[in-house]
Amino acid sequence: MAGNENGNGNGNGNGNGRAIGIDLGTTYSCVAAWQHDRIEIIPNDQGNRTTPSYVAFTAAERLIGDAAKNQVTNNPINTVFDAKRLIGRKFSDLTVQRDIIFWPFNVVPSAAGKPMFSVTYRGEEKQFSAEEISSMVLNKMKEIAEAYLGSTVKNAVVTVPAYFNDSQRQATKDAGAIAGLNVLRVINEPTAAAIAYGLDKGATSSVAKNVLIFDLGGGTFDVTVATIKEDVIEVKATAGDTHLGGQDIDNRMVNHFVKEFNIKKGKDISGSPKAIRRLRSACERAKRILSSSLETPIDIESLFEGIDLFSTITRAKFDELNLDLFSKCMELVEKCVGDAKIDKSSVDEVVLVGGSSRIHKVQQMLQEFFDGKEACKTINPDEAVAYGAAALAAKLNGEGNDKVQNVIFLDVTPLSLGIKCMGDEMNVIIPRHTTIPTSKEKVYLTTRDNQTSVRFRVYEGERSKATGNNMLGEFRLQGIPAAPRRAAKIKLCFNIDENGIMNVSAEHIGTGLKKEITIVNDKGRLCKDEVEKMVIDGEKYKREDEEYRKKADARNALENYAYDMRNTTICATGIEAADKMEIEKAFESTMKWLETNKLANVDAFKEKIEELEMIYNPIVAKMHSAGPTIIELD
Ligand code: ADP
Ligand code: MG
Repeated sequence: MAGNENGNGNGNGNGNGRAIGIDLGTTYSCVAAWQHDRIEIIPNDQGNRTTPSYVAFTAAERLIGDAAKNQVTNNPINTVFDAKRLIGRKFSDLTVQRDIIFWPFNVVPSAAGKPMFSVTYRGEEKQFSAEEISSMVLNKMKEIAEAYLGSTVKNAVVTVPAYFNDSQRQATKDAGAIAGLNVLRVINEPTAAAIAYGLDKGATSSVAKNVLIFDLGGGTFDVTVATIKEDVIEVKATAGDTHLGGQDIDNRMVNHFVKEFNIKKGKDISGSPKAIRRLRSACERAKRILSSSLETPIDIESLFEGIDLFSTITRAKFDELNLDLFSKCMELVEKCVGDAKIDKSSVDEVVLVGGSSRIHKVQQMLQEFFDGKEACKTINPDEAVAYGAAALAAKLNGEGNDKVQNVIFLDVTPLSLGIKCMGDEMNVIIPRHTTIPTSKEKVYLTTRDNQTSVRFRVYEGERSKATGNNMLGEFRLQGIPAAPRRAAKIKLCFNIDENGIMNVSAEHIGTGLKKEITIVNDKGRLCKDEVEKMVIDGEKYKREDEEYRKKADARNALENYAYDMRNTTICATGIEAADKMEIEKAFESTMKWLETNKLANVDAFKEKIEELEMIYNPIVAKMHSAGPTIIELD
């Protein structure tokens, strides 16, 4: 299997094909690679440079990306998205419970307490974990890249939000492994954007520059302050809101039009999920237009009970509907600058990331906040993260030019990490904002006479009361030789690798009794066997997709043949009425057969074409030989 289950990224390219960078977004994903002497954003089969992180299941097939999003109105309960909100989480997590209320699809707990998407696929109920759904999106991105690069892709750098904890990072790596990718490294999205910015700016100076990365995406808002100095990018602080983004902005517009429809047409469409979904799609389109225009029409035919919605919305109205959301972003910007312990006047560059940062008002408010400083516009906001990830992928894979090869960066821990000590004290081992990779040690003493085992509970967070923080896991070191209290010493080592994944080890000083202890599997993280099973399942689904496509092609070929046959003969002169009848009969019976054999196997479709050929070919031959007699003139 491709991934490595110990959680350590292998930083070396292995000559095993090309390396890509994938921005695995909550709502949209983007892929890039080193090609033609530069980093290129790779368009998908629809020509789009970002691909919806959507997977749909139907009676016949599985759809990923644009194809999945396009059919959401007709198949809402089997079209899943937002897998990133579930990855590495437990079903009982509060945020999961809150999200479930708003999703049109079903999420149920697994026996182990993991949240599972429950869908009907090919007439059967199926459950998929967030890792599996994400792996399907990653696989789609891999295929997009392979089609474009014309070669296989094995290695990838995948990005995650800076606030992702250990288990969310590990789960993202697992998703890569299920997709058959060797995840070279998992990096923070703002770091990737900073790499893109750093590359774009060319040679960086030896003077440290403060960069603020403003990422307003589809469902989340993240703001980061980083410093860049001589190709070293160091994340100083992060802040954000996990439920603030394009979807919320779309909702505001939807509510606006629901009200308007009610007033103008006297109809309340809020109870019709289908009408709401159609309206939401139209609003998202209108929103994008308003980023460059001052006004846009919004027309939906027969929106509700046969009544059309024909209206317009101006940018000013749009801004007003969303002002509080935009203001919230600015508050978080202020907080992040404060956390980084700098003054806003010492922010040298503002980098826009995320599709929603294209909104005019957002850019304007940001510029005002920074006293007129304009945001850097040279990098495409929805592509910057993939761009930076691809630069790192190329570097790690031994591709790219000198500039790419020189990219180095340092990340920081977003939260403090420590253990629970007596009296519920949070004893910090790695303080918040420590540069990673890092390894820190601390010595602890036993608290009781003849204590032979010690329990360690690992937490992340800033509260001084350990239980007020987020517990990551716990373990016990056993077999300590009996000794009076405070005589036995245990050295605890927290190690965070370049992916931000943490390992903890404990060692009894004196006897050398050492146990390498990894944080236990308590956050719904997958074990190796589960990952392997999912890899096999993933391949199975891919095969099924291919089989389906082949069938669909074969069916199409038969249908086309039947229509062509009928249409060419129907008006042709020189065909006997009896032959025409025979063709019409063959056509009708083929159509009937297609009706009841929607997904017969490929051979059956081919046989049917052959049957039609047996009827059609002799008639065509007769038709040609029965052409007008040519009179030779001398
Ligand atoms: P993610 O949050 O998944 O990383 P993106 O950064 O790609 O996603 O942002 C997607 C969001 O950006 C969507 O809500 C989309 O409607 C919005 N968006 C894309 N282009 C524009 C635009 N030109 N103006 C306003 N919003 C846009
Ligand atoms: Mg994003």
